[in-house]
Amino acid sequence: MTKTDQLEEIHAVLKTVDDPELPSVSVYDLGMLYEVSIIGADVHLRMIPTFAGCPALDFIEQQVKEAVEALDWVNHCTVKFSMEKLWSTNAITDKGKQELKKHGIAPPPENYRPGEEWTVHCPYCDSDYTSMENVFGPTACRSILYCMACRNPFEAMKPVVPITEIKG
Ligand SMILES: [Zn+2]
Repeated sequence: MTKTDQLEEIHAVLKTVDDPELPSVSVYDLGMLYEVSIIGADVHLRMIPTFAGCPALDFIEQQVKEAVEALDWVNHCTVKFSMEKLWSTNAITDKGKQELKKHGIAPPPENYRPGEEWTVHCPYCDSDYTSMENVFGPTACRSILYCMACRNPFEAMKPVVPITEIKG
């Protein structure tokens, strides 16, 4: 088995490990995987924690470790959360965004830059006619909004982009 195949298997496995706070959105689709090193039968993963205010990292670490170690060729897997690299909602994959919508959660905007105003589209009808008034507190990563078009309440995820990611 080549390194590329091994890497693909690890990615596939990580797509099956869901974030405990966001059912059916995998840690892979949230963009948490940062680095994979494979040394023989040992796999070392570096991951980026999502919102600082949303814990469950121990749980995720355990789930990832078990899932990766279930692969035939893996003997041992370690998971380290990197604190020097910061997670960004821009890292969420398209699949991740689709899954969020399916759960009635409006995904964060694309290519968000800090300080920008953003529009939340309703995950059900895609209307931007939604209520939004200081709904995100300083630590809240998700908030309840209301769609004036289809009259559904829904959750929205706040965009988070570390300053270091901004170019130009
Ligand atoms: Zn709507």
